[in-house]
Amino acid sequence: MTQDCIFCKIANKEINTDFVLETENMVVFKDINPKAPVHLLIVPKEHIRSINDIKNENKDLIAEMIFTAKQAANIMSINESGYKLLFNVEKGGGQEVFHIHLHLMGGW
Ligand code: 5GP
Ligand code: ZN
Repeated sequence: MTQDCIFCKIANKEINTDFVLETENMVVFKDINPKAPVHLLIVPKEHIRSINDIKNENKDLIAEMIFTAKQAANIMSINESGYKLLFNVEKGGGQEVFHIHLHLMGGW
């Protein structure tokens, strides 16, 4: 838990949020400002700033984020129609919330 991190607060349930999916290590919830008919965020409970901060011991977590995205796509019934998965990395890459997350966008 990192103080003043909005995604830590959501993952710790300090901010009331409906989860599409919660697992031991992840939460998945709807983006507040959706850029697609279905726009979810896959967020690990562990605070890691960005892809740049991934270390050898975090590699499994990234694989788990992608696997969790696949599960969330199934839950939202967009697995067959298809979807995009996107990491924004640091300011130049469009990252605004500095707690690593994977965007899942689809439903077109
Ligand atoms: P980034 O630009 O960092 O890759 O994406 C951050 C995303 O988080 C943005 O799409 C933004 O709309 C979303 N977001 C920011 N604050 C909140 C929040 O408090 N709740 C939810 N559900 N989404 C948020
Ligand atoms: Zn955080």
